[in-house]
Amino acid sequence: RFDGIAMAPPDPILGVSEAFKADTSELKLNLGVGAYRTEELQPYVLNVVKKVENLMLERGENKEYLPIEGLAAFNKVTAELLFGADNPVIKEQKVATVQGLSGTGSLRLAAALIERYFPEAKVLISSPTWGNHKNIFNDARVPWSEYRYYDPKTVGLDFEGMIADIKAAPEGSFVLLHGCAHNPTGIDPIPEQWEKIADLIQEKNHIPFFDVAYQGFASGSLDADAASVRLFAARGMELFVAQSYSKNLGLYSERIGAMNVVCTSAGAAARVKSQLKRIARPMYSNPPIHGARIVANVVGDPALFNEWKAEMEMMAGRIKNVRQKLYDSLCAKDKSGKDWSFILEQIGMFSFTGLNQTQSENMTNKWHVYMTKDGRISLAGLSLAKCEYLADAIIDSFHN
Ligand code: PMP
Repeated sequence: RFDGIAMAPPDPILGVSEAFKADTSELKLNLGVGAYRTEELQPYVLNVVKKVENLMLERGENKEYLPIEGLAAFNKVTAELLFGADNPVIKEQKVATVQGLSGTGSLRLAAALIERYFPEAKVLISSPTWGNHKNIFNDARVPWSEYRYYDPKTVGLDFEGMIADIKAAPEGSFVLLHGCAHNPTGIDPIPEQWEKIADLIQEKNHIPFFDVAYQGFASGSLDADAASVRLFAARGMELFVAQSYSKNLGLYSERIGAMNVVCTSAGAAARVKSQLKRIARPMYSNPPIHGARIVANVVGDPALFNEWKAEMEMMAGRIKNVRQKLYDSLCAKDKSGKDWSFILEQIGMFSFTGLNQTQSENMTNKWHVYMTKDGRISLAGLSLAKCEYLADAIIDSFHN
């Protein structure tokens, strides 16, 4: 009976890492998955994480089950980090927070909540977006459609298109927004645009649904990167916010994140939380403890918190340096007069090069540069030493 099961296609992002592993060329470069590497292109465990793990070992903590909603100390600090500890939504206990299986698992919980309580609603997602968003809503049986976001002509934000599509959507739709460092484009709305987006969402009775996977990683400042979410919260709007600690604390495989639902009263928040727990219980029962303890310890201790911020600035700074060097190399080597300034304007881990599928394939097949077929490259996987090589590959792929 299992003979009839067809082979599933490889994942468009994680499949790139598999192909990279199989390549024996010394030139190979993995710019597919968004994972931070050192200048030597090695994975990086934050010093503050190692320190806290030692502390945890010394304390001899047990491995009893967590409650369904996760570690209380984690849930407290994660909501405070997102909204700011003094935010009225926190003080008035209007936020339902549950620990999730990183960003993906948190999004999946929210999708299940939408499916159960808003069966008529659809989710609007940006075109393009992180590839897994569509999988998540498909598997949760939540209908979705796209709003315009990226303008290939300017390699910038199609703000008019975005506004028009959000306006045209049925009232009460969920609007998925990337809190900062939009993946894959690296293009974010500016503050005045965020205000206009919030105006429109309120006008249309839509529900903003933020995906925050890069807090602290876009600008190097945790507060600045949460500004979009806080702007919406300050308007007293109900909203969803999924969080991830994969990138900013380098906890990729610990699967630590959270789902936050901002409600209009403490009572509603308590009820929403009870329903999120009901969804989580049959899915995975309760979340893992290790990453939650790391986050709770780092954020809960002022000295460790400052160490984390310094390391985050270091990581964000290294990415900015390679971004600059890549831009300089492209300008120096390319004789076609093409304007490469979009590379400097984009923020976060990624750069959206504008390379089409055939050109992206040329990057991989001829130059051993592994990247997603939408033209996205992860600058977090690039070193200063490899910028010139990458510039050669990009110029060759564009012009051939
Ligand atoms: N959302 C976006 C936009 C992302 O880029 C990512 C990570 N690539 C995630 C969510 C979730 O990642 P994780 O499940 O590892 O937290």
